[in-house]
Amino acid sequence: MKLQKDLLYNKIKYLLYFFYDKNFIYLYCKLKRKMNNMEKKILYFDMDNVLVDFKSGIDVLNESIKNKYVGKLDEVPHIFSYMKPIDGAIDAFKKLSEKYDCYILSTAPWNNPTAASDKFAWVKKYLGDYGYKRLILSHHKNLNKGDYLIDDRPTKCGVDKFEGEVIIFGSNEYPDWESVLRYLM
Ligand SMILES: [Mg+2]
Repeated sequence: MKLQKDLLYNKIKYLLYFFYDKNFIYLYCKLKRKMNNMEKKILYFDMDNVLVDFKSGIDVLNESIKNKYVGKLDEVPHIFSYMKPIDGAIDAFKKLSEKYDCYILSTAPWNNPTAASDKFAWVKKYLGDYGYKRLILSHHKNLNKGDYLIDDRPTKCGVDKFEGEVIIFGSNEYPDWESVLRYLM
C-alpha cells in the first residue's frame, strides 16, 4: 500500500516538475521576446500605396462599379480584398522585423463596412506570423508612439503630427522598398 502511495506521489511530483518547467520556459521565452522588442525601435507601416498596391484592386473592378463609386473607390465593398502587395513590400517587412518592432498602422475608410475585416484578412494572408496581432487601424496616427512611420500621405490622418520620423514612401528620396531598406537597415 505504502509503495503504491509513494509511486503515486512520485508521478505527481514529476508531473508538477514537467508543468513547472513548461511554464517557466514559456514565461522565459515571452519575457525574452518582450525584452528584445523593447530594445528595438518601433516602426509603423501604412498599408495603401505602401504595403498594398491600391491600383491592383481598382483594376479588377468592372466599369459599372467604377462609375458608381467615382471619387470614392475606397468605399467599394471588398475592394481591399482584391489588392496585391507592392513590389518588395512583403520581403521588406520581414527584413525590417529583424531589426525593428514592426506594426501596420492603417486607416479603414469610415463608409466601407468591409474595409476593416478585409485589411485584417490581407495582413493575415500576406504577412502571416510577421503580422500576428500587429495591425492597428486608426484615423489618428499621431497617437501611436514610435520612432518611424512609413507613409505615402504626409499630411493625412495625423501623419504630420507623428512624434517620430516620417519616411514618405513614393517620394523622390524613397520611391520604392529598395531605397527604404537602404536607409533603415
Ligand atoms: Mg497610404
